[in-house]
Amino acid sequence: MSGAMKSMIYLDYNATAPIRSAVIDAVAGAMAVCGNPSSVHDTGRKARAMVEQARAQVAALAGSRARDVTFCSGGTEASNTVIRGAGAASLIISAIEHDCVRAAAAVSGLPVFEVPVDGDGIVDMTMLEHHLKDAPKPALVSVMYANNEMGAIQPIADVTALAREHGARVHTDAVQAAGKIVIDRAALGVDYLTLSAHKIGGPQGVGAIISAPTAPLQALIAGGGQELSRRSGTENVAGIVGFGVAALEAMAELGKGAELAAMRDRLESGIKGHTNAAQVVAERVPRLNNTSCIAMPGVKGETQVMHFDLNGICVSSGSACSSGKVKVSHVLDAMGYEAGVADASVRISLGYGTTDSDIDRFISAWKTLYDRTAA
Ligand code: PLP
Repeated sequence: MSGAMKSMIYLDYNATAPIRSAVIDAVAGAMAVCGNPSSVHDTGRKARAMVEQARAQVAALAGSRARDVTFCSGGTEASNTVIRGAGAASLIISAIEHDCVRAAAAVSGLPVFEVPVDGDGIVDMTMLEHHLKDAPKPALVSVMYANNEMGAIQPIADVTALAREHGARVHTDAVQAAGKIVIDRAALGVDYLTLSAHKIGGPQGVGAIISAPTAPLQALIAGGGQELSRRSGTENVAGIVGFGVAALEAMAELGKGAELAAMRDRLESGIKGHTNAAQVVAERVPRLNNTSCIAMPGVKGETQVMHFDLNGICVSSGSACSSGKVKVSHVLDAMGYEAGVADASVRISLGYGTTDSDIDRFISAWKTLYDRTAA
């Protein structure tokens, strides 16, 4: 973490994770190599070798073969490519998808069917089946693996099994799941899985599409035919190298999930022990170990974010990707939360740099704000 970051408490890993020092070193090293991975000469081959090493590292994180990894500019481009490029006649998406899926579906020109979620944020399988029967075939189902705002983990293998019965293909946005839970594309049975480097401590602006060997993938970006013609443009070699190193470190840390969960649970019980007015979203279902979405009814999320910021603590209200836009989270709305609760929530997301004292400071700042506003 940089010097400037040391004095503050960063609890916004789901927005972007602090870049890992090994990643910075690897990126700097890669930038010193002048080579286009498509060039046949010596330095071109060096750049190619670096890209292919990273491809193997990212493939390992996703439980896939290296040749099924297509690098691109991030989670947003990855999901847009799948939505547009899967050859679907219709789209069936969950109501809590990230905007990169929702907006891509909206502009795709295809009929879009939305699958609701229950009060805990889990997809409604009966409605999924209903849409699978009605939607023009072949349909593409897009259900995220884990939600960025409240962390609920979806039953993707069940979604895939049901989709298969209706001849549909499945995409899962695994941007938030990566590095937090084990990802095994084949075991999930999905045709497409999308990733982003900066959520696991890699550089921003790099992502990947992992596709099943038999899944069609029409390129969104046409050009020189890089990435097996699935994504044209000279590869972002340094970024890709950083992604590979981040994937390697993230995989090695998968075993530390229980430590994060213990800190997250302590944070939540510290707050719930202070007042039973606080509500923890998606508390009853499998959730990412690092994620907590807490509503402090009566205090706007934006006000809370500012209060924590003044106390040197970084958290988000709603989705960080939509920060700046003051609107009620579509995720909490889909879960049935009233606007007064939904717009009073903040997302706290922990990661590899989080310490027990960070949790103490957060709880203390939360109590101060609550006591001041509830009085
Ligand atoms: N999908 C999810 C679940 C996300 O949380 C994000 C970023 O917040 C994205 C996709 C977009 O990824 P990127 O920032 O790499 O475009």
